[in-house]
Amino acid sequence: MQYVIIGSSAAGINAIEAIRSKDKKSKIVVLSDEKTPLYSRCLISYFLAGTIDEKKIWYRSENFFKENKVDTVLGVRAEKIDTDKKEITLANKEKIKFDKLLIATGASAKMESVKGVDKKGVFPLRTIEHALEMQSMLGRVKQVAVLGGGLVGLRAAYALKNRGKEVTVFVRSPQILSQIIDKGSADIMQAHIEEKGIKIKTGSAATEIKGSDSVKNLIIDNRSEYPCELVIIGKGVSPNIAIAKDAGIKTNWGILADGFLKTDNKDIFAAGDVAEAHDIALEENSINAIWPAACEQGRIAGLNMTGEKESYEGSLAMNSLEFFGLPVISIGITKPKKDIYEELIKKDENRKIYKKIVLRNGIIVGAITLNAVETIGILGTLIKNKVDVSAIKDTILEDHFNYGKIVNIVKNSKQGFKQKEFKETTMTL
Ligand SMILES: Cc1cc2nc3c(=O)[nH]c(=O)nc-3n(C[C@H](O)[C@H](O)[C@H](O)COP(=O)(O)OP(=O)(O)OC[C@H]3O[C@@H](n4cnc5c(N)ncnc54)[C@H](O)[C@@H]3O)c2cc1C
Repeated sequence: MQYVIIGSSAAGINAIEAIRSKDKKSKIVVLSDEKTPLYSRCLISYFLAGTIDEKKIWYRSENFFKENKVDTVLGVRAEKIDTDKKEITLANKEKIKFDKLLIATGASAKMESVKGVDKKGVFPLRTIEHALEMQSMLGRVKQVAVLGGGLVGLRAAYALKNRGKEVTVFVRSPQILSQIIDKGSADIMQAHIEEKGIKIKTGSAATEIKGSDSVKNLIIDNRSEYPCELVIIGKGVSPNIAIAKDAGIKTNWGILADGFLKTDNKDIFAAGDVAEAHDIALEENSINAIWPAACEQGRIAGLNMTGEKESYEGSLAMNSLEFFGLPVISIGITKPKKDIYEELIKKDENRKIYKKIVLRNGIIVGAITLNAVETIGILGTLIKNKVDVSAIKDTILEDHFNYGKIVNIVKNSKQGFKQKEFKETTMTL
């Protein structure tokens, strides 16, 4: 048996560990176009900020591949999958055979389609290489523009502010973090970030990046100019599906994966940011491009590659962020688009507190808690277990809402999940 894994990040590494837990002998080959796998992508903005050093971003030992008897091909791109010959062709023309393949190619940063985006000094923030390159030019940088107000854009803005730079974030939409939280909570977070000295311009976009070779300034909305030496693009990500699509594997937004994280080819699996798999809140396939989902999917795909029959329960969109001491957590559906959902909101702008739950037929399918994160564990458990909370829904957003207030509902819940399990989950989340 020869296992091949394309992509050596959260999903790929967890798959290796799962395979080795069941199969100590067969050959595993991992392919990555990055030269330095085994770092946590989530931490690169903190590394850029200078708040952690490079040693802290490695999440497995440097001997990981040796200890797990894994052959590596690093710094080379996998270009083609031949599903009939069960063979992968690399960019250097080398061919590698597989019996079971995992596609864990993740996602790439979307680049802004704006004139001048190819100038020196314009970066996405997706890899350690990007962070290192930005770091090497910081001595020459006074002003920074961040295009995009999502998680990565704001983390980059925070990092460079922390490095003493003047930072402005340009956000095309009317709010920051529009993929994660609603406008009510985003407005409180935006005001808080601005108080700390980062400027945020919503409803504004760069229409050109100017400079002879390196970036010198931005044209904003075809009108004003913003001088800057560094531009960071934080416009979200696109799943790296091309290699699968070209091989005839079924794709949609991502690679379609079934309840065992198998693609429509019985020997090929998909996991992580590239996989479109079951979403617990949406009750359909979706991509939740978050680290824990990639790890869990990698683990399950790895087990199933060895012949196990481990089913995948599904993921929940879940983001936990903090900017300048103000935490916000969102789970599941937070900005429902259809009228089958009910939204309950409690807001206290003076205390910078915002809480919201989204219900469908009495069941919570999404939540946001800003500066009130202590109840998110309970909410997460109610979402996962689909408990009907109709009888107590008006108490859920009250201060001091806790497990005691819903114990009867939990006990009577159709799903009847155990009280012990409930307590454990709420404590660890
Ligand atoms: C700055 C930043 C901060 C983040 N913060 C958080 C956070 O706080 N919490 C959270 O949950 N998530 C966070 N994320 C998202 C998280 O990092 C991703 O969900 C996670 O990395 C996905 O893991 P993956 O293994 O699916 O793919 P990836 O991490 O994208 O890795 C895929 C790997 O495959 C390689 N590859 C792709 N195509 C090929 C090919 N054809 N041949 C060879 N190699 C290939 C890629 O270069 C890459 O090394 C953050 C992401 C970024 C960029």
